[in-house]
Amino acid sequence: MTDTSTRPRRRLEFCLTVTVVVALTGLGIASLVLPNTTLPQLRVGPASTTDSIGEAEAVDPRLAEIQRIVEPFGPIIARHVPTGDGRRSLIVGHPSQEMAIDTLEREVAAATEAVTAVWGPDWAQSALVVVASSPSEFAGLLRATSLVPAEVAAASVADPISPGHRPTGQRVVFSSEAARRLTPEELAGLLRHELTHIAARSRTVIDAPRWMLEGFADYVAHHGRGHRFSDIVPTLVARARAGDLPHALPTDAEFAGPDAALGYETAWSVCAFVAEKYDLPHLVQLYVRIASAEQDPTSEDHVLREVLGTTRSGFLADWHAWLAARAG
Ligand SMILES: [Zn+2]
Repeated sequence: MTDTSTRPRRRLEFCLTVTVVVALTGLGIASLVLPNTTLPQLRVGPASTTDSIGEAEAVDPRLAEIQRIVEPFGPIIARHVPTGDGRRSLIVGHPSQEMAIDTLEREVAAATEAVTAVWGPDWAQSALVVVASSPSEFAGLLRATSLVPAEVAAASVADPISPGHRPTGQRVVFSSEAARRLTPEELAGLLRHELTHIAARSRTVIDAPRWMLEGFADYVAHHGRGHRFSDIVPTLVARARAGDLPHALPTDAEFAGPDAALGYETAWSVCAFVAEKYDLPHLVQLYVRIASAEQDPTSEDHVLREVLGTTRSGFLADWHAWLAARAG
């Protein structure tokens, strides 16, 4: 029975949870635990570095809200990029983040294509991507009420979803530290990870198991890029050498804190295993079934049986053997 008195609170929780969705990935970003020493500050750059913001605003209403948030932090760069099926993505930031903005501008079309190749064309195929210049601007862009933990490199945020409607207000936000420290390759992977969350949002509830949400996003981030197993999951490889590979799916708590890298890597490995043993459509089907509802062990077992025709113990044993063969 539903306790209707909890509904408003639930809605609030939903908003808050979305704003702090951690987007560490298995790209080495998890080790990027940074001290929160970058103080909120106003960036003032020469007016000449501002792109034609007026033109961009005239044709893209998405810019208006972002402009209100980021304008106090200095001059704005806004770049439109054609992405998928005649849509346009918008990259926004400040001159001090221009290198990251250049990278994201270069990568966003390919990242959109990569997400569509796995997920299919049923999503916006266009994104609003913003690069923050300070922790306070990052928090503002994520509608967070306090500073976001420093190890969060990027996040995707959306308005609360009304049943039967496409998500609105979606954006990908990169932290200033991510923009400063990550290589172009890492930024590109992180962009794919976040765009996967955006694409899958309409089929995802926020209480769905993180192993499915994050594993799938990381799977798409690495898919088809020729990355070596040991580069994708270095922590798991180290654990294999110590004879300590996981036997269970990671719990939601394992995606935060100092050991978050292991949670993300393990989740990636579950999805990579499914894609390899079964195929990509089965992985997407598994995602849709698992992510579209809050799960408990019984309901998860049911989905595993229906989608993959296996029991939980059979699934875990096969995955563990697959993992041991590759990581050992
Ligand atoms: Zn994520």
